[in-house]
Amino acid sequence: MSSTIYRGRFAPSPTGPLHFGSLIAAVGSFLQAKQQGGAWLLRMEDLDTPRNVPGAAGDILRTLEAFGFEWEGEVVYQSQRGDLYDAALRKLAAQDAIFPCACSRREISDSSVIAVDGPIYPGTCRHGMAAGKTARAMRMRTQPGMIEFVDGVQGNICQDVAREVGDFVLRRADGVVAYQLAVVVDDAEQGISKIVRGADLLASTPRQIYLQRLLGYATPNYVHLPVATNAAGEKLSKQTLARAIDEKNVGLWLWRALDFLGQSPPVELRQASHEPLWAWALGHWSLAKVAKRTAIAVHEPRSRKDGVLS
Ligand code: GLU
Repeated sequence: MSSTIYRGRFAPSPTGPLHFGSLIAAVGSFLQAKQQGGAWLLRMEDLDTPRNVPGAAGDILRTLEAFGFEWEGEVVYQSQRGDLYDAALRKLAAQDAIFPCACSRREISDSSVIAVDGPIYPGTCRHGMAAGKTARAMRMRTQPGMIEFVDGVQGNICQDVAREVGDFVLRRADGVVAYQLAVVVDDAEQGISKIVRGADLLASTPRQIYLQRLLGYATPNYVHLPVATNAAGEKLSKQTLARAIDEKNVGLWLWRALDFLGQSPPVELRQASHEPLWAWALGHWSLAKVAKRTAIAVHEPRSRKDGVLS
């Protein structure tokens, strides 16, 4: 695909209603796509069935509509794309790049070094499972080497996946295809050329680039926006009890998202509805104004008047 075609996306997981943290990724990815005359697609990352919340996908779509987001084409649901992920796993197996693993979580954590994303796999099944063992997960057989890319906000990033992450899981013991594989297959299959998302995924990107190379996919450009945290430095999420976005105050939430993203929306627009805010944002959006940080603490407003970010 030509690098002049901008195709961006927003890819929420339906583990709860949309909260301020995910709104930031939606707003940033949407405005960057629109400013570049690009398309913005929506994908529901609903593979992690144990974490999915019934009705959450519908709630997220309704909230996005209430905000006036417009996406191109049909919403893609990962839960309906198992064949694509199986085909990618077969392609990796043909290169001897993956291996079945019989280790339990306990066995791994007992004998591992903790790294960027949990324990580094100690290599027990890397060259074959011990006799009598049954495969649980499927893992990547990672090879040493630096993966480097230039992030649109965070700058130069490099990581040796084998050394810093280790042999990561591509299909979990419960049969669920791992996010790292699904996201790479879908971004390639949907022709996504620019990925704008939260910096909580920055450490995952080298794994995704690693997979893109083995699967013969182009690597998109990446932009990782700072994530909103609570005062304790925890990412706003359902786990940190972040409040769902109140659809009665979409203008204020949008103003807050633009403010968080360093755009300095006019104070007069704080009481505005979403239409004038979008009009302003489409005319003023500048990625260069986004803070070059991976996280920023916010306090959640209790009322419409209490809407200033800390
Ligand atoms: N589904 C992921 C999330 O909600 C985002 C994945 C991505 O943007 O690559 O955190």
